[in-house]
Amino acid sequence: MASYEDLLVKAYNSIPQKAQSHERFEVPRVESFIQGSKTIVKGFNLLMNNMRREKKHFLKYLTKETASPITEGNNQLIISGKIGAIQLNRLIESYFNQFVLCPECKKPDTKVVTQDGIRMLKCEACGAVKPIAGL
Ligand SMILES: [Zn+2]
Repeated sequence: MASYEDLLVKAYNSIPQKAQSHERFEVPRVESFIQGSKTIVKGFNLLMNNMRREKKHFLKYLTKETASPITEGNNQLIISGKIGAIQLNRLIESYFNQFVLCPECKKPDTKVVTQDGIRMLKCEACGAVKPIAGL
């Protein structure tokens, strides 16, 4: 049985993405559901492929933001706590904004480089470089 929140997410996802230009990167969304006291997040491998960041780093971020232990396996994440799908996707979007998308051109074509011991986000599309907040 679909929860109210599931329906909300479904409604949100089915809104046609008009005026979607090829320039604009869409932060990937994940599907999740709550099972008992845990949250199961599906499609984790695809998310990591889109993100192109260290799995360890993302899991650390998510653990901190949800204040819940997280285990990973079989293309899914298991969060030891109830995290709504909307909140979860917001956290993922926030991760992309902080650690993946270029602050200048908003493209995801970035990589993490270390300069003088400081971790920087370097954009391969426009060349912008910015320090990454510690985590
Ligand atoms: Zn850029």
